Amino acid sequence: MIKLHDLYFTPYISEERIAKAVDRIAAQLNRDYKDDNPLFIGVLNGCFMFVSEILKRFDYNCEVSFVKLASYSGTQSTENVRELIGLNEEIKGRKVVVLEDIVDTGNTIEELLKILESKGSESIAIATLFYKPEVYKKDIKLDYIGFEIPNRFIVGYGLDYDGLGRNLTEVYQLKSNHMINLVLFGPPGAGKGTQAE
Ligand code: 5GP
Ligand code: MG
Ligand code: MG
Repeated sequence: MIKLHDLYFTPYISEERIAKAVDRIAAQLNRDYKDDNPLFIGVLNGCFMFVSEILKRFDYNCEVSFVKLASYSGTQSTENVRELIGLNEEIKGRKVVVLEDIVDTGNTIEELLKILESKGSESIAIATLFYKPEVYKKDIKLDYIGFEIPNRFIVGYGLDYDGLGRNLTEVYQLKSNHMINLVLFGPPGAGKGTQAE
């Protein structure tokens, strides 16, 4: 168990399992983007480990860029998504692959897609290491998914809790604690989903 700020987290997904999921996604990308010189766009901050591990496994020509479009503070996704910064590459006619650490409500990905589509990309695919289907509210197809996980708050492998935990090489989940979950997420069935075990 580890402590970040005021909260405790327990081991959830090992380095080995993460590596296998990344291997699988990278193999799919190698198959699908062999001759396309794709533009990989990582969504900062959480994506950095995922992006570097995908790139190490991508065997063909590609470009990489990073953008920022944060929508999160603390442990609950907020509704208002902020502006896109950092995209300097020409998108027109490019095959874009967005690399996300986690898709939760889908607000971030929806905003990002709107902007990329308006810039005339030829195609856009989304690869995310983690995905919370119970919370996802959009119709947008997620093309490559590492793990489908329940609606629990996770940290590690790029993901943070108020700035801490990004450097952890495995993924941890918020320790099941009735009082903590009640405070953070409300009673079971309320709001976005049920947290408590
Ligand atoms: P969405 O816009 O899909 O609701 O949220 C996407 C962003 O919320 C992610 O890029 C990430 O920053 C944050 N997020 C969503 N779920 C989690 C989680 O379980 N743990 C952490 N650390 N961040 C999360
Ligand atoms: Mg993200
Ligand atoms: Mg965060």
